[in-house]
Amino acid sequence: MLITKLKNQQELDRYFEKELFVFKCFGCKEVYFPEEEIGKLIIAKQSEVSGIAEVDYLCNDDFSKRYIEKNMNEIKKARGIVVFSCGVGVQVIAKLLEDKTVFPGCDTHYLNGFQGLTVLDCDCNQCGECYLNYTGGICPITSCSKSLLNGPCGGAKNKKCEVNPEMDCGWVLIYERLKKINKESILKDKNTLVRDFEKIIKGI
Ligand code: SF4
Ligand code: SF4
Repeated sequence: MLITKLKNQQELDRYFEKELFVFKCFGCKEVYFPEEEIGKLIIAKQSEVSGIAEVDYLCNDDFSKRYIEKNMNEIKKARGIVVFSCGVGVQVIAKLLEDKTVFPGCDTHYLNGFQGLTVLDCDCNQCGECYLNYTGGICPITSCSKSLLNGPCGGAKNKKCEVNPEMDCGWVLIYERLKKINKESILKDKNTLVRDFEKIIKGI
């Protein structure tokens, strides 16, 4: 089981400075979503929200593609996308909207118990502090064999991971994605990311 919690207010305020399109996912029954808090936040920020899509199972590419098509006019105009879901949903939207900056509205935390069964391209390790806003919507924990947060290890060859040559280097993917949305400066501007393992050891 997993649980999603709203990111801290300071972080959310930074996203909502711009005109945004919002995706909300309330699909999985084994995931807790802070629905009430998300609703209140959206009301408080409504002047900055250009459109909202509520999707069941955002992690399902086909569902999400349909909602994107249906809302394409607003999405095209939006200067960014905020996704309220677990880390998988955010990654799916980032993958489907390659030319948009995608922000996670929630952090995803691990809870013991049944996890649900999914066959997905994207994975979330429920690290308790979602970094997708710094990494172009690609998870550094699951796309890098060493779960590095501050850039590549330097061992990649021909864009493949030194630990697993069958796998694309996650940090090459992150860099290419940030470059595509003209946000590669994030990698220089952002202070060193430090992983807080207490969030996993102690839980929420
Ligand atoms: S950074 Fe990765 S593991 Fe952590 S919450 Fe986000 S998607 Fe999940
Ligand atoms: S080669 Fe890339 S994916 Fe592999 S461990 Fe190094 S940084 Fe991570």
